[in-house]
Amino acid sequence: MDHLSQIYLDANATTPVLPQAAAAASFAMETLFGNPSSSHISGLQAKAIMTQTRQRATQVLGAGNGEVIFTSGATEGIQTAILSALCNVRTRIDNTKDYCLLYGATEHKAVPESLKHWNKILGINAQLKAIPVDSSGKLDLDFIAKEAPNALMICTMAVNNETGVFQDLSLLDKTIRANNSDIFWLVDCVQALGKTDLALAKTTIDYAVFSGHKLYAPKGIGFVYIKENTPFTSFIAGGGQENGLRSGTENLPGMAALNVIFAMLLGQSEHSFTPPAQLEKFRQQLVGALKQAFPSIVFNHGFENSVATTINFSIAGLSSKEMMDLFDAANIRVSSGSACSSKVTGSFVLDAMGLSQWQSESAIRMSFGPAMTQQKVDLACERIIYCAQALNHSCLTLGSDDLANKSEVSGLLQFKVGGSCTWLYVDHTTKSAVIIDPLPQLDQRLKTLLTCQSLQLIAVIDTHGHADHVSCRVALADLLLKGQQTDKLGWPDDTPVMAIDGENYQYINIGAQRLVKVPTPGHTDDSISLLLTQYVQASKRIQADYVFCGDLVLMGSLGRTNFATSSTPAMYSSLQSLYQLVGSETLICPSHDYHHDFATSFGAEMARNNLLAQVLSKEIEPTQFSHHKALLDQNINDQVGREIMCGAFVESCRKNVVEHHNRDSLAAAMAQDSPVQLVDIREAHEYALAHGQEFNQNVPISRLVQFAQRHQQDKTQQIIFICRSGSRSQQAAQALARLGFSNIGHLEGGYALN
Ligand code: PLP
Repeated sequence: MDHLSQIYLDANATTPVLPQAAAAASFAMETLFGNPSSSHISGLQAKAIMTQTRQRATQVLGAGNGEVIFTSGATEGIQTAILSALCNVRTRIDNTKDYCLLYGATEHKAVPESLKHWNKILGINAQLKAIPVDSSGKLDLDFIAKEAPNALMICTMAVNNETGVFQDLSLLDKTIRANNSDIFWLVDCVQALGKTDLALAKTTIDYAVFSGHKLYAPKGIGFVYIKENTPFTSFIAGGGQENGLRSGTENLPGMAALNVIFAMLLGQSEHSFTPPAQLEKFRQQLVGALKQAFPSIVFNHGFENSVATTINFSIAGLSSKEMMDLFDAANIRVSSGSACSSKVTGSFVLDAMGLSQWQSESAIRMSFGPAMTQQKVDLACERIIYCAQALNHSCLTLGSDDLANKSEVSGLLQFKVGGSCTWLYVDHTTKSAVIIDPLPQLDQRLKTLLTCQSLQLIAVIDTHGHADHVSCRVALADLLLKGQQTDKLGWPDDTPVMAIDGENYQYINIGAQRLVKVPTPGHTDDSISLLLTQYVQASKRIQADYVFCGDLVLMGSLGRTNFATSSTPAMYSSLQSLYQLVGSETLICPSHDYHHDFATSFGAEMARNNLLAQVLSKEIEPTQFSHHKALLDQNINDQVGREIMCGAFVESCRKNVVEHHNRDSLAAAMAQDSPVQLVDIREAHEYALAHGQEFNQNVPISRLVQFAQRHQQDKTQQIIFICRSGSRSQQAAQALARLGFSNIGHLEGGYALN
């Protein structure tokens, strides 16, 4: 299997420049470098390329007598069209009327943002209205018919960049013109070029915009079509190039490259693109491989409504970010429908189509261009299957392949969904597991993991009744703990009791460890903390490895106490008694991690949370604490994205000192006599797919807290984290530095840049 070559399936984001287009651009830079405005021979030669490119563009677009003006890209084209249309309507606005500007709800952000911008700058103050789409992504024609009479401009797209869904332009044309013959109509054709036939002059489209880098030309060249006799206002004034319509010395290398692409589209070149019927076969083949690899896959658009070069899908239980990381590790470049940030955000395009939240948050887009080849499709299919095997290997999915061949799970795992955490503790010797605060989005993943690893679930426990989500505890318990009697948080009935410092606490055995329940009311009246401890028989003391404290202590924060069942005085005592039990070093594992802190300790929190430090040192009384806490809770930003915040932050996250390595400093560190741990922090399935990096130790970031716990005894050892892009390695390094590790570094830019 070819592990090294890159498979690029992100053509809707941008394409490589085709060698023949690059050669033409290079020739234009090195040989035909004249300024098209110069009247000498070099200038004339340059101008000839420009003229030919424009003629070919006119032919490709079916532009008739319309103008084709070269721009820097589609975003400039969009400004040009909107400015032109709005400057014209401004002169005839009736101040007694209410106007609107219409745009498709799934439009690229460049369109609504530009409309908003020019509407404001030009003082038009029309209302912006998004035209809804149906579940297949088609624009609501009734809405257009209703709103068009009062609209000044309507902006639609020919083909959507996330889903490939195309609109029926002739039906739109009829609908728009039947309701308003004067309205200016802009069509964003960026994703349509080379994928659908365009005959613009036969439509009433006023402006259409295009971008070269979506079809194998370089970045920095695009063009805009303007219908004959349609108003135009220059967006860039100056030396009068482009017939005075768009000033600035022309991007001749870009035009030379486009010229080659147009020749291919027109069949005037020795090179040719793959015909549409073959592209459809490529899509079917990729879809077949995806279905085989991920049987639960859901496609987010109808193939009959979309161009053959785009596939948008979601796999239940796997986020866009996870799939992106997986594909990247297999050297397949794809794109996520959603922004990959710490906050879970979905795709606004899929949201507008009314798809479910999980589809939107798990969306992956694979896209290719008309230069795709059979060989690349075959290789992509092979790699897709390989990716699925890696997921089976790390038990994220259950494959039919050998269950014995799994990477074994042992100890503590942290799962995150947005800013919330679920914790799983696995005792390797007894093959038993405990789950704490199971998030509903993880239900399937947890079940899969338990089955795949042949683990017996002993208990599934919530640390409190969560206000921000419904736990999936009951669903898991109903399936895996049939007949177990518990309280309402899942703590089993009739558990044994042990005495610690004269107090009795219930516990559960998990292998040689004990999970001890400590009531810690405050955030809610039912809040508990769970201590995972070794019981030292001789001293009758406990030595906790981890404390699962729910929303009592949050990283950089304390759980909110402004719910009906909250009590600030109770939180005051809970903090003190928990501190008494576990001390300042034990790792605290809360049920939220809003800032990639992973875990904390009372010591680390006291260093940045003065209020907590005052409570633990008893410098303040419960009443003073209540007063300060109430003020803090007033600052809670109730809802961030789709999440409800469960704590008020006392301080923005301070950066800790970590070493930022580059390739040279890493090599120097590795050549030292003193031992260095080079830790690959990617997930196990990514690591399994990556080749040539086996010399590094793999500690999946979901097991970082366990890694920290196991290295608590020597916090001076040099550790350098490494990952795909340098983002997770930096988070891991920051987290350990905050926990008091003094010699921590990470490789900036990760494998991607080194
Ligand atoms: N419109 C659509 C549909 C796009 O996909 C893009 C690029 O992502 C743009 C507009 C912006 O194009 P450009 O990068 O040329 O400014």
